[in-house]
Amino acid sequence: MPFTRVVAMAGGVGGARLAHGLAQCLAAEALTVIVNTGDDFEWLGLTLCPDLDTVLYTLAGIENRKQGWGRARDTGHVLEALGPLGAPTWFHVGDRDLATHLRRSELLWKGYSLTEVTRVLAQALGVGPRVLPMTDDELRTRVVTPEGEMDFQEYFVKRACEPRVVGFRFEGLETAQASQAVLEALEHAELVVLCPSNPYVSLDPILSLPGIRERVRNRPALAVSPIIAGAAVKGPAAKMMRELGLEPGAPEIARHFAGTVQGLVIDTADAGSTAEIEAMGLRVRAAPSLMRGPSGRAALARVVLDFGQELAGGVHVDVGDRPRQAA
Ligand code: GDP
Ligand code: CA
Repeated sequence: MPFTRVVAMAGGVGGARLAHGLAQCLAAEALTVIVNTGDDFEWLGLTLCPDLDTVLYTLAGIENRKQGWGRARDTGHVLEALGPLGAPTWFHVGDRDLATHLRRSELLWKGYSLTEVTRVLAQALGVGPRVLPMTDDELRTRVVTPEGEMDFQEYFVKRACEPRVVGFRFEGLETAQASQAVLEALEHAELVVLCPSNPYVSLDPILSLPGIRERVRNRPALAVSPIIAGAAVKGPAAKMMRELGLEPGAPEIARHFAGTVQGLVIDTADAGSTAEIEAMGLRVRAAPSLMRGPSGRAALARVVLDFGQELAGGVHVDVGDRPRQAA
């Protein structure tokens, strides 16, 4: 029986790619993508949501594949004109991308929640699956370095991930709540997929919100390793692991998510770690996990759904938290 309620959790590029693969394999109404908003920030008075945009653009097929952020076939006239006006230009915003930030900010100013704004943008871009920000509240990832704390985008873009990472702090976590839509989607999920996103700055912010991790634990859930053969496909995940005193590799990813998910998809290159990961109490599926192009995304999604069927069939579900039937 094909899944009718799959919930994926994603940060930016890695998560968006697998979400797009899942979208190719499932009916649109069968997929919900919960997206990290810890990277969000204010730019020239506008609210920017980089991970939400990456997921929306990728699902709409208009992402800039070369850059890894922004829209395809974009231009940079606004940024070019901003420089001489004395505005900061270290964060690159394309002209078409800017249209998204303007429209989002306008709707937020009018009083829409980020969840509602995202629904409007998704519909306008022709995105079928439901895309949900993890929260409508402000939660900001701060990177702790020997120089002190900095905003995530300052670390990631302005400083090009150069400062050594000592830890992370999610500012606003004391008061931020997961949205109702997110909590409900998780409660009804037949399968939860933690996409191959950065565990520390893309997935942990989502999982840290009250009520999320326990809901994931109560569902059939699996993660896909973003680390292949000891290296990140892109971005600072492996560098962060080394700086945190962890050995970049599938076993460390497994340790990170053990107790939250029941299964881990690792790359065939890491199949040698299977026994070590199984000893942590996780089921393992080894498969080619580098997503090359849309067909590569769908191929990994098929592995994920097949493994998910296996987990969903044999998962132990607490009596008090029986899988609910759709209304
Ligand atoms: P960001 O917000 O754009 O940095 O995006 P994410 O946190 O979602 O994605 C970054 C992570 O995705 C990195 O750790 C990459 O190793 C991982 N990633 C990107 N592409 C792939 C892929 O094709 N396969 C796997 N397994 N991981 C990938
Ligand atoms: Ca991100």
